[in-house]
Amino acid sequence: MEPIMNRVGEVYEPFKVHFLTKRIEKLQEDEVLIKVRASAICGSDLHIARGMHPSAPLPVTIGHEFSGDVVAIGKNVHNIGLGERVTVEPCIVCGECEACRHGDYGYCEHITFTYRNGDGAMADYVVVKSPYVYSLPDYLSYETGALIEPLAVATHAVRRADVRLGEQVLIIGAGAIGMMTAAMCRRSGAAEVIVADFSESRLEMALKVGATRVINSKKTDLEVEVMRLTEHRGVDKSFECVGRESCFNQAIMTLKRNGVATIVGIYEHPQIQFMASRLVTHEIKIQGAQGYCWDFPVAIAAAKEIPLEKFITHIFPLDRLQEALDTALDRESNSIKVIVKP
Ligand SMILES: [Zn+2]
Ligand SMILES: [Zn+2]
Repeated sequence: MEPIMNRVGEVYEPFKVHFLTKRIEKLQEDEVLIKVRASAICGSDLHIARGMHPSAPLPVTIGHEFSGDVVAIGKNVHNIGLGERVTVEPCIVCGECEACRHGDYGYCEHITFTYRNGDGAMADYVVVKSPYVYSLPDYLSYETGALIEPLAVATHAVRRADVRLGEQVLIIGAGAIGMMTAAMCRRSGAAEVIVADFSESRLEMALKVGATRVINSKKTDLEVEVMRLTEHRGVDKSFECVGRESCFNQAIMTLKRNGVATIVGIYEHPQIQFMASRLVTHEIKIQGAQGYCWDFPVAIAAAKEIPLEKFITHIFPLDRLQEALDTALDRESNSIKVIVKP
């Protein structure tokens, strides 16, 4: 193949991006070269942009939610062909540690992500290992295909929470992950999917993608309202999709006895206080959910009936990456998913 000069967006200091120029010379046997067509800004990219991501210090390239066209493949690639429209599971695992050998690659001792290794997808091209590449069915565009990664995060959380038919669930935080979690809970059979947030526009959106009820927790006391709605029992499952002490507390205080809280948000301030006695008095369980493990195929299948295009509020060309990031960071912009296209 002809060498390619590739632009890769990097956050080099808080709130500032620039492009690195990287030369792509040749592919390893198991690699795939993808021409990026759409790349979405993730909530975790915003933690990075603020210089507050607990495991991705600056400078770091960004972009891990993307889709594109396969333009070259290594000679040992068999699962994907030239010209296919694809998305990518952007983790890198060792394949050799105990977790990997058990198939629990999400717990790989050496797990990392493509963007943390300098291969961010706010770029013209990305090179990845072929097993992580999934072809996009016809019902997914490049733009919605780029949203499979966050949908896989939501899928993972909902599967871990084991949401069942007829359950009542609460989702705190109507960012993209919170709303996708709502959509997946509904698809899993939850009868009541309550979404709480401060933003009216986000709550309106949540109703379009799977919420059965919304609560503006700026105006209403969330715990009181959830107890009222559940006849003072509390919900079966709660999801904390913000990453704040107050939301963590809401997630556990609204649970019914033996309920499960799943913590998905990234905690910029990792140490918090909560009512530990609740663990005993209500026998509640608190667990985390991070990333994905065998969730991409489920997310791709589920996406057939989730209106992912509704999440896309802004589209920018790659040249305007700084503006795209500023828009995603700006609360006033009412952005949900900002897409960047080379
Ligand atoms: Zn993401
Ligand atoms: Zn491993």
